Amino acid sequence: MLNQLTISELSAKLAQREVSAREATQACLDQIARVDGKIHAFLSFNAADALAQAEKADKAIAAGENKPLLGVPIAVKDVLAVKNQPLNCASKILGNFISPYDATAIEKLQAAGAIVFGRLNMDEFAMGSSTENSAFGATKNPWDITRIPGGSSGGSAAAVAAHECIASLGSDTGGSIRQPAALCGCVGLKPTYGRISRYGLVAFASSLDQIGPFTKDVRDSATLLGVMSGVDPRDSTSVPQPVPDYTKALTGDIRGMKLGLPKEYMIGGLDAEVKSAVAAAVKKFQELGAEIVEISLPHTDYAVATYYIIATAEASANLARFDGIRYCARVDGADPIELYGQTRGAGFGPEVKRRIILGTYVLSSGYHDAYYLHAQKVRTLIRNDFLKAFETVDAIVTPTTPTAAFKIGEKSDDPLQMYLSDIFTISCNLAGICGVSVPCGFTKNPKLPIGLQLLGKPFGEESLLRIAHAYEQATPWHKEKAAI
Ligand code: GLN
Repeated sequence: MLNQLTISELSAKLAQREVSAREATQACLDQIARVDGKIHAFLSFNAADALAQAEKADKAIAAGENKPLLGVPIAVKDVLAVKNQPLNCASKILGNFISPYDATAIEKLQAAGAIVFGRLNMDEFAMGSSTENSAFGATKNPWDITRIPGGSSGGSAAAVAAHECIASLGSDTGGSIRQPAALCGCVGLKPTYGRISRYGLVAFASSLDQIGPFTKDVRDSATLLGVMSGVDPRDSTSVPQPVPDYTKALTGDIRGMKLGLPKEYMIGGLDAEVKSAVAAAVKKFQELGAEIVEISLPHTDYAVATYYIIATAEASANLARFDGIRYCARVDGADPIELYGQTRGAGFGPEVKRRIILGTYVLSSGYHDAYYLHAQKVRTLIRNDFLKAFETVDAIVTPTTPTAAFKIGEKSDDPLQMYLSDIFTISCNLAGICGVSVPCGFTKNPKLPIGLQLLGKPFGEESLLRIAHAYEQATPWHKEKAAI
């Protein structure tokens, strides 16, 4: 089935003219028709437009064009601007908003020949860990539809795991790519802050947000990273670091590389099956010739608290623009203040409101120094922990999540429990480093994917992907398919 192929497999078949982009796109659309009623990964898609793009790709292939993503159908989280497509951030507040422009990452995908189609479900404004905060209903995990797919990019992970697209894009502010990738059994990469332009990514917390790919294997992740990376004059936080061919780093050879195991990550709440899957992965790394060393990241305990101060502070400022005057679904009032209140009261869901209130509080006069300023200082300590560790190790190995996918509804009434599901992923964003989650096993009953997280130096994606790829090639986990 064409929809089950990876990017590299499909590209090879397209180049050989064994299959057409139209057939591959149709296979994805057929799979959506078959399974999306159960999973709800997509908020919307335009089949006619996807097929028209496919036909264009087929013509280019026939004319001998050769681009890395030519004819590959890729779906997008509803937080990235794609010209002439809806952009809602899974919120009611944007109404019938249609994006007037393309995000830089999208422009780059299109320039590489990708068929960019569909809007993928997410937690409203990327705030959440389960996709239950979508204003349009939750996404279900393709491995067990009574469970959450993770979040906030749950639709992106579920769509790849259910083979409704070849790959997808998400965004990661505190774990929103790696956590759902782990829970759905795919590869999810959060690049270094500044690696990929954020232009056209609706901002949640600007100092933490990064765009990244969801793929079926590490090679595809390397391909997409290479296409999307690079400095962009429209995002002043993008970094003019050269963009290597990341697929060249996938040598399979990790002999002599040093991997750090942070002792602070072996917490009480860690599920026994997750713990043993990670222990088995560590053994596998040793077999592959890597050296494992215990390291310490002493400020780990403060990461979740620090994140929920900084992320909410930035969110409260970023979301001020959704006021019903500049744009978005307006609810009228007698004066502007009433109009703002009515519009934002009706348009935002409860989690978004909670974050705006929290963020406004930590920034308010009298509390700014005690909370926000303090959190910024702790953030520096967390970053320094990592930079110190990277003086001796090439990458850090941790579980991606403390447990496999939980039941729908299990944590939705308890925000603190929900926040704790990001305990292993959040520090990476605070430190601005890169991280990837790769499949590392399954729980037994029910059978649910488990993710292994690898964390790398700033702009150390080549080493990170090399290690992830060597592990993937030596293990069977990424080949398993959800029985949906
Ligand atoms: N789950 C975290 C939160 O709710 C991270 C979200 C994200 O990375 N966008 O903020």
